[in-house]
Amino acid sequence: MPTDIEIAQAATLHKILPLAHQKLGLPEDALSPIGHYKAKLSLAQVEALQGEKNGHLVLVTAISPTPPGEGKTTTTVGLGDALNHIGKQAIICLREPSLGPCFGMKGGAAGGGHAQVVPMEDINLHFTGDFHAIALANNLLAALIDNHIHHGNALGLDVRRISWRRVVDMNDRALREITVGLGGPANGYPRQDGFDIVVASEVMAILCLATNMADLQRRLGNIVVGFTAAKQPVTARELKADGAMTALLKDALAPNLVQTLEGNLAFVHGGPFANIAHGCNSVIATQTALKLADYVVTEAGFGADLGAEKFIDIKCRKAGLKPACAVLVATVRALKFHGGGEGLNSLQDGLANLRRHVENIQQHYALPVVVSINRFDSDTAEEIAMIRQACEALGVACVLATHWAEGGAGAAALAREVVALCEARAAKPAAQLYPDEAPLADKIRAVASKIYRAVEVQFEPKAQAQLQDWQAAGWGHLPVCIAKTPYSFSSDASLRGAASGHVLKVRELRLAAGAEFVVAICGEIMTMPGLPKQPAAERIAVDAQGRITGLF
Ligand code: ADP
Ligand code: MG
Repeated sequence: MPTDIEIAQAATLHKILPLAHQKLGLPEDALSPIGHYKAKLSLAQVEALQGEKNGHLVLVTAISPTPPGEGKTTTTVGLGDALNHIGKQAIICLREPSLGPCFGMKGGAAGGGHAQVVPMEDINLHFTGDFHAIALANNLLAALIDNHIHHGNALGLDVRRISWRRVVDMNDRALREITVGLGGPANGYPRQDGFDIVVASEVMAILCLATNMADLQRRLGNIVVGFTAAKQPVTARELKADGAMTALLKDALAPNLVQTLEGNLAFVHGGPFANIAHGCNSVIATQTALKLADYVVTEAGFGADLGAEKFIDIKCRKAGLKPACAVLVATVRALKFHGGGEGLNSLQDGLANLRRHVENIQQHYALPVVVSINRFDSDTAEEIAMIRQACEALGVACVLATHWAEGGAGAAALAREVVALCEARAAKPAAQLYPDEAPLADKIRAVASKIYRAVEVQFEPKAQAQLQDWQAAGWGHLPVCIAKTPYSFSSDASLRGAASGHVLKVRELRLAAGAEFVVAICGEIMTMPGLPKQPAAERIAVDAQGRITGLF
């Protein structure tokens, strides 16, 4: 089997403008091409589609993954191709990959095998420049903050209470905690600062949740960069940063259109991580796709405890989206990982993780679910049969999907199951875990107890005080975005399977008043990841023909 990048480079791509016209009826002037195979859909066209009726929204999620990933993106692409293969009109909505994992351990995020979006190298590297724009908008605000203080600090920002951090789209642990403004009066005031990865930034979340340009600017203006000595919030609007930030993000807000290896269309737009951020592609892309196709297949990051929870409690709640069903991706590899070893006994034990996710999706999100086994070459018939039996006992549909090896045809059974679930369900919202009015601390407790099965949530004293202050200041109605490890239901990555009875420790809180949620950082999770001992970057090169090699 050739590698992902070899398969992607061997593909014959269609020019994106005629393809979008032929498949979706989009007029050519609705799209701005970037090269031949990538295009941005104009916001005027996004607006013009508003009156159309919505297609079915299908969420692809997974059991708790292993570090390389269990194939959600691959399944999202494979299912999109499969729906088209069985004669349905379907569009895929994915996140834009981050350079952190691309050069780190996990690799790119454009699918795999015969289920990929292309041009794979472009999508994984600079793509249409959205992440650069997001980083610049974020860092413009950081520069304006330090400049404001340098020129007299009229707003009275307390330099010890600045929460706005700089960002770069790289795994760079050396930048987690830094000091800026060293070198004397000409260089501003020294203060402690730090970098996050772009995909954890509030600007990324804002771009993904904004419904139009005015909403984008409103949210950017609402960003709270820090507090005065009297604990009054200081916003980006007071620093007059919102206009220029919006200008930098103007083109990034338009969704990017690309194609799959089978010539079906995919929006790849926005890219927050699901462990340290809200984990879903842009609202604009999803809403637009729903107007253009009968079926929209989208991925939320990591396991169903993280991305899927945030998809429902943040994205769908805010955007009024009504998902029709969920696909739960499972692999033999991850089930064994949760069972703590190799062999059938470990697989049997690991099924506890799958059961818990199925139960959560059915009971707490109130969504119909189908389990999709992402088949690896090493899987045996006994292993597959064991997963099928477990699903049968749960009364949940289970299909074997081979799109990685065979493309859309390999996920036709999954597509038929999804169509049946969509047709059986009247459009209604998924169940939310908590009402808007619940206090912030109770919202965190609701996710912790219902989804993670924690017995208790412990807040650091500082976090407790912040929650009270923010509640009193009028941010209590916001949803919460929990940052924690994806490898466990708990905040301890070593507790595999279906951990319960654990304590969720909230280390730090961050107010994202522009994105309109409160981030609760739990356990050891970092908003700036580090590179592994042997980063993927070491294997990436360009050959004599200018072709990139080693990207995966
Ligand atoms: P996720 O979105 O869940 O993180 P991806 O779809 O990105 O996972 O897949 C992670 C990696 O695993 C990719 O490099 C992909 O090529 C590989 N992969 C996915 N499915 C299979 C499979 N069935 N067999 C072999 N490799 C696979
Ligand atoms: Mg993915």
